Order: sequence, then structure tokens, then C-alpha cells
Amino acid sequence: MKIFGASSVGLGHLPPAETTEEPRVSAGRDRSAQRVAPARVQLENPRGFLATGLAAKLSPQPLPATSIGPWRALSLTLGLEGGFAGRVPLADLRMLGQIRELKAELTPLTDAALRERFDRLRTRAKSGTALISILPEVLAVIRETSRRVLHKEPYEVQILAALALSQGKLAQLKTGEGKTLAAGLASAALALSGQGAHVATSNGYLAERDAEDLTPLFSALGLSVGVAKSWGQTYEEKRAAYAADITYAHADTLAFDWIEDQTWWQRDWRVQRPLHAVIVDEADEVLLDNANFPLVLCGAPEPAERFEARTALLRSANEIARELDQGQFVRLDHERGKVRPYVTEAGMGEVERLVRQHVGLKTGAEVWTPEQGPLLLSILQALEARHSVLSGKDYIRQDGQLTLVGSGTGRPNPGARLRHGLMDSVLAKEGKAPEQELLPLGAISYPAFFARYAKLSGMTGTTHGRKEELSELYRLTTVEIPTNRPAQRVDEPDAFFPHPAQRMLAAVADVLETHATGQPILVSTVSVRASKEVAARLADPLLCLTDVALSSGPLLAAACALLPRGAELLSAAHDDPSLLHAAFLANRPAVEAFAKLLDGAGLPAHTLLANAAGVPHRVLNAETHAEEAAIIAAAGKKGAITVATQMAGRGTDIPLSPEVLELGGLRVIGIERKANLRQDEQVRGRAGRQGQPGSSRFYVSLSDEVFTFLPAHQLRALAEKVETSRLDELPSGVVAAYEKALAKAQERGEQENAAGRRQGMRLSGALESSRRRMLGWRDEVLDATDLARSLTEWIAADGVKQATLAHFAPAAVIELLKRLDPAAAELAAPAKTADELRAQLTAIVDRRVDAVLLERKEDGPAFNQFLRGLVLSRLDQMWLDHVMSEEDRQREVYLSSFADGDPVVKHEIASLTIFNQSMERTEADIRAAFFSVIRKRSSP
Ligand code: ADP
Ligand code: MG
Repeated sequence: MKIFGASSVGLGHLPPAETTEEPRVSAGRDRSAQRVAPARVQLENPRGFLATGLAAKLSPQPLPATSIGPWRALSLTLGLEGGFAGRVPLADLRMLGQIRELKAELTPLTDAALRERFDRLRTRAKSGTALISILPEVLAVIRETSRRVLHKEPYEVQILAALALSQGKLAQLKTGEGKTLAAGLASAALALSGQGAHVATSNGYLAERDAEDLTPLFSALGLSVGVAKSWGQTYEEKRAAYAADITYAHADTLAFDWIEDQTWWQRDWRVQRPLHAVIVDEADEVLLDNANFPLVLCGAPEPAERFEARTALLRSANEIARELDQGQFVRLDHERGKVRPYVTEAGMGEVERLVRQHVGLKTGAEVWTPEQGPLLLSILQALEARHSVLSGKDYIRQDGQLTLVGSGTGRPNPGARLRHGLMDSVLAKEGKAPEQELLPLGAISYPAFFARYAKLSGMTGTTHGRKEELSELYRLTTVEIPTNRPAQRVDEPDAFFPHPAQRMLAAVADVLETHATGQPILVSTVSVRASKEVAARLADPLLCLTDVALSSGPLLAAACALLPRGAELLSAAHDDPSLLHAAFLANRPAVEAFAKLLDGAGLPAHTLLANAAGVPHRVLNAETHAEEAAIIAAAGKKGAITVATQMAGRGTDIPLSPEVLELGGLRVIGIERKANLRQDEQVRGRAGRQGQPGSSRFYVSLSDEVFTFLPAHQLRALAEKVETSRLDELPSGVVAAYEKALAKAQERGEQENAAGRRQGMRLSGALESSRRRMLGWRDEVLDATDLARSLTEWIAADGVKQATLAHFAPAAVIELLKRLDPAAAELAAPAKTADELRAQLTAIVDRRVDAVLLERKEDGPAFNQFLRGLVLSRLDQMWLDHVMSEEDRQREVYLSSFADGDPVVKHEIASLTIFNQSMERTEADIRAAFFSVIRKRSSP
């Protein structure tokens, strides 16, 4: 056994001669001790730039070559040609052929005979038969069982997906094609060997929904299923969920449970079994979009002094930022999907003045010094918090709390915090005291976590050019699966508008017109705030007219000219838009005249007028997420209007009745495009599922955030083109320019994120390799049944190494022995060979250990447990310190990323060096503690 594989040799490795202090073994992660319930925190990265991620320098794996000739021949015989754009590996098509043939054989079997067939396969898998060799039969039996108990016979495209998933690949299957069932088939196959299979969903709601939907299938096969939850489960319940053959859980629950499992001092306290197979649903979101948000498990609160110092700093920074804003010393730039505050030239002087005032420096004293660094940084963060982190978009206020909203999911994420202290600046902006930070117990990122599974597979409807990245980062090969039935959804071309108010009016008119036909509508918006804005306009459509009137000078003048006391209104309307709205409401002829004017310009204002009383609708966003299931259940009903954020995106399945299908299915109206094309495609994918009819259209305006990804000159050129155009339909040349610009902006958005991910992976590479070493040792300690002996061997090996370095000089060897046992050194002749010395050292330590056992009347296991605590407490503390200091080092990279050199390389070196040093210190500390136990107790 090689506990603590001797990393390097130095005098520090010898136990110190005098160690009298009794080692303190803290209660640590002993579950019997009282402890704070660990908090689960996900760090959201303000700029998506810094990150922790996958360590391994995974080599890109070439995509399998597909042989078009036989592939065509085979897919033709299988009748898969229609709409088959994918490249399914030939082997999979062959297996599909076998599954087809088995159908005739399985259909006549009784339920009992079918189950028996499955049990036989299971026995074979458990006794070591490779899954791939029985996969066609396994899937054929599962398919037949599904037909019987779920009354859904998996389509062949779902079988192809299940084949890919069972082989550790990424199945790309269009939205609405039935990935839930495909994952069910594959998880049953993967669970066959008895090591468990996990299905990672993109939120907790889906984990429960999917497990529930598929339970009849699993039960009929004799497989158990569990759902692991982030909240409200005891450890026993959780362990039971993981003991099941198939476990459904939100991806972050899986990761958090794993982190916590690595903190226990006893293996059987763990809730998870060794990570075997996982199917990641919405893999592009989990594995790419969330790659840079590490998950941190937190325990005890930070020390009070640290908290107080931080609070004082934040208070000053926030006050200074507020004064800068009031004095208009801050310029806001819209770039790359963010609002970025810059302190102006004049503002710099003001910063200096305010800093001096706050810290009590003399006029003219230097401010840009290391001492003032933390305050200056806090000021920048306070500005960022004030301008870039927005209420109703990035976070919501509920029950007096601030809750971050997942940037990709639109879901409230109560555990999430912004990194690098930005969260506290946001709290300060909102007039809230910063929260006492909780110290981490452990952390990991999604990429590093999912790489730990023996078998990783995933599925998604949208990969859009990310295939290479998935292959590079995760070695996941993508298999594109064709659609089952030809897609019927009509994706209408985007409607572009120069101004957001015009865009809103047209979109609302679309909703109203569609609603008149009874077709259900899903209005998709980009933020909580935007969803409320739309909802307000559906309740009071005339608001759209007011907005448009306010959108341009000439229009406002025209509107006011129609109203009594128009001149007064004209001057007051901008400060208080409600005045104009009230005037409109009170003056029907004027509104009609104004609507007519807009109609003439091509904006369908009359539709709003005809529905001035508003239409019933429901809102699904982070604030109403508790009603999610009910809102979704009703969203497909005739006449339903649902206004939602990205929450009604991935995974959401809106059931439609035959009557609704007659009416044309679901219509998706997207207001604003996102920088992430895959998210837009997911929104569209709520309609036209399973080959059903449906339609979608996005309403876009030039001020949408996505366009800030364009270079400024291009944006300007586009704006100029638009200005010269009229309100109504844009000339085709302008539309083409819009479309091109949009495609480019989304491409840039994706590329920027990809660069961030790559950076993140590199940045965390060092941490992950340190983690592997640390966990390797930790597991050995955890499993050691005779730790005293292991420690003894380790000490002996180390002593031999040192003696070898000293060429077995007698004086050095005597010195070594003396340090361990002054009495023993005199008795024994100094060893001349490695074997002799090893025997001497081992004998000395063994004698002592025996003496301790005798004196304490302790039996082996109790002493072993004691020693385990002694070692693990030190090891764990070292690791936590390392993780925490790593966060600080990454913050430095984040700050220096605009400076010279490659901060990431420097970081890697620093991180590994520091880990090695900490490890050496910890080893010395453990040795000293061990010796102090055995020496004190056994000294005569
Ligand atoms: P995806 O995850 O691919 O977007 P879902 O798994 O949510 O799609 O499935 C979409 C809809 O198709 C669901 O209502 C599901 O019940 C239905 N469905 C899936 N597979 C089948 C099948 N083989 N037969 C009938 N209906 C199916
Ligand atoms: Mg799904």
C-alpha cells in the first residue's frame, strides 16, 4: 500500500524530534457530530470568462468515418430514407435491423415470458457479458415492454437514439421527438449490469416528471427507479434513490451529492455508488452553457472579523459608486450582450477625491496603491452591480430576498451566487446587508464532474455547430438521428423592426389575431421583466399604442395633435407616459385616428383597438415557477395564451388535444432573439412536436441585446439603413442585412462563450489534477483497515529514501532512528542496507503502536477509526484551504487577464506548486501527529 506516495524527500519529512502536543482531531465531517446543513451554491460567473472545468487534456477524437455506400443501401432497406439527413453509424443500423427482426419473435410472448427473457439478459450482463453484444436483444425486449405497459411503442428513431446513448455517445434528436422515452430505454440497458445508471435532467421538475412517466416500464422489467432531490430528502432516502437501478436527478443534485460524499470519514456514509453511467439530457446546456459555473458545497460561516471587514468595504464602495452615478461620471457601453460601466476621464479625479475622503487621506495623497486596491476593486464591482446586474432579468426580489435567475434556464436559482464578491455589491445596491459567506466544503464544475463517470452519454435537440467542441472537451461523438415523421412546423421568417415599441405592437397584434382563431399561443420572452411587459400589454393592448407614440418625435406630435390639451401633453408625455395613456383611454376618437395613422404606416394597430379590453393569459417565469406544472398542463388548451421566459424552453412538453391540432397546433411567438441560437431553437421546439402542426415566429428589433455582439461600426451601418426606412415593412435589402447581422451576432456570441469555456477548462486543469491525487490518497485512507500499519510502512519507506540520499552514513542513520525512538537507537546497530533499516523502523513503530493499543485497551478498529480521523481531518482541511486559495488565484487571473503574458499558464504553474507545498506540509503534519500519539502513549 502506498499511502501518500512519497512526493519528494527532505528533512521536513522526518517526524520532528519534539512533539509533545496531543493531536487534535476535530469532529470534522463526522456525521454524528452536530453540523450546519451544507448549503449548495452555484457560482454564476458575471462575465462567463473565469471558470473551473475539466482537467484532462482530452485529445479530440475523430468522428467515425461513415461509409455512404452501404449506409445508403441499408437505410433504404430499413425505409429510413425520408428526411434522413443524419449519419447514423452503420453498426447501429445493423443492430436496428436485428431489433426489427426480433419484434416478430417477441410480440406473441406472454408478459411473463417476456420478463423472463429480460431477466436472462440481466443475468448475463451481471456475469460480465459486454452490453454491446446483447444490446439489440435488450432493446427489443424493452421496446416490446414499453408498447405493452406505456402504450407507446418506441419509434425506430428512438431506438437509434437509445443505441447511441447505450454506447456512450451524444444523440441529437430534434425537439419533441421523444428523448425522454429514448433515455428510458437506454438507462434500462445501461443499468443491466447492476452498477446503476443516472439520468441527469436540466431541472428538478423534469427529473420527477420523467421518472414518474417511465416507472411503469421499469417496474415491468423488474428494475427499480429513484429520484434524488436537492432538498427535502434525508440521507437514507437519498441513498435509496441512488441504490436504485436507475436514478433520475437534476444535474446539479448529482454533482452536489458527489461533492458531499467526498467529505465523509466513512465510506458507508456516502449516498452514491461509484459513478458508472450517466445520460445527460439537454447536454449542450449542461455540458457547454453551464460549464463555467462551478458548484460549491458550503458549510460553516466565515469568521466574523473577515465578514465585518468586507461589510465596511462594501459600504464605502457602494456610497462612492452612487456618488459617481449622480455626478454622471460613469459612461455605459453596450457590448457583447452586457452593459458595461466605464468611469470617464473626469470621473477618475472624482474617484480619487472620494477614496481619499472615505479612507481619510490628505488631499493630493496617492490613491492607486496596493493598500487601496480592495476598495478600488470594490468600487468597480459596485458600478457593475448597479448597471450590469439587473433586477427582473438577472435576479428577482421575492419575500425580501434576492434570488438569481439562471441565465440560460430562466429559473430561480436560490443557491446561486455571483462570483468574485459581485453578489455582495448587488445586495449593497439593493440596500441589503451582505450575507456572511459560507466557507466551502468542496467544489466541482460540471465538466469535471461528468468526466468522472465511466460511461458518459448525452442527448439534445440542438447542437448547432458545437459538435467539435463536445468531442474535444468530452470525447462525445454526436450521432444525428433523423425525425420520425416529417416536421410540420412552419418557422416563419423573423419580423424585424427598427424600434422595440413597434416590435411589441406587431407581436401583440399577432397574439390577438391568432387568439381569435382559438389556436393556443406560447409567447416567449427573454427575462422576467420582459414577460411582465408583454403580460401588461395583453391585459391592456392600448399600451402598445402609447409606446409607439413615444418612440419618435413626429409620432408623438401627431398623437398629441389628436388629443385635447395636446401641447401640454407633448411636453409632459416623456416624463410620465401614463398621461398619454390616460388621454388615449379617455378619448376613443383620438385613439382611432392614431391607430389609423399607424395602420397606414403598416403597423396593425386596428387589431389592438378591436381587443382594447385585453385577453386572458397566464405568466410562467421565475416568480411563478411554483405553478409550472399547472400552467404547462393548460398551455395547450384551446384559446390559451401563455407568456413565459426561457422556463418554457428545454424539456417542456405541452400536450395538445385533437381539436387544437385541427386549429393548427401551438403557435410560438418569440419576442427578441437571444445571443444563443440553441436557446432560440429550443423555444421553437415547443411547437410541432411529434410531427404535429405548429408555427413559430420571432419578433426582432435592432435594440435587442444580441446585436451588441456586433462590432460597433456594423451596428451603426445597420442603424443608418433602418433610419431611412419607413415604419412599415422594411425593404428586402434591409431585411437581408438584418438577417445577416443576426446570424453573425449569434455566431459571435457562441464563439465568445466557447472561448470562455476553453479558458475555463485550462484554468481548472491544475485543480483537477491535484484533486485526483488528493482523492486517490483519501480513498486509500478511507479503505485502510490497518492504518497504523500503512502509516508505519509509509514512514519506513520515507526513512529509507532519506538514508539512501545520505548514502547510509552511520551518523545520519543513527540520527534518524533517534528521532523516532531515543532508546531504540542505542540498542540497535545502525543499519547498512535499505532492508535492514526498513525492518528497524517498522519494528520501532510497531512496538509503539502495540503499546498504545495495550495501554488504551482499544481494539484495532477503534484505533483505526481514530487514526483515520487524524489523517482525514488534516487532508480535508488542506484541500479546502487549497480550493479557497484557488478561487483567489483565479480572481487574480480574472483581473490580470488584460495584462501581458498568458495568465492561465502562470496560474497552472502557481496552482500546482502551491498544491505540492501544501501536500508536503500536510504529510509532515500527519506524521508528526501520528508520532505524537504513539510516542506519548508508549514512552516508558
Ligand atoms: P423531447 O425531449 O425529445 O423534446 P419528449 O420526450 O418530451 O420530447 O416527448 C415529446 C412527446 O412525444 C411526449 O408527449 C411523449 O409522450 C410523446 N412520445 C414520445 N415517444 C412516443 C412514442 N413512441 N409513441 C407515442 N408518443 C410518444
Ligand atoms: Mg426533453
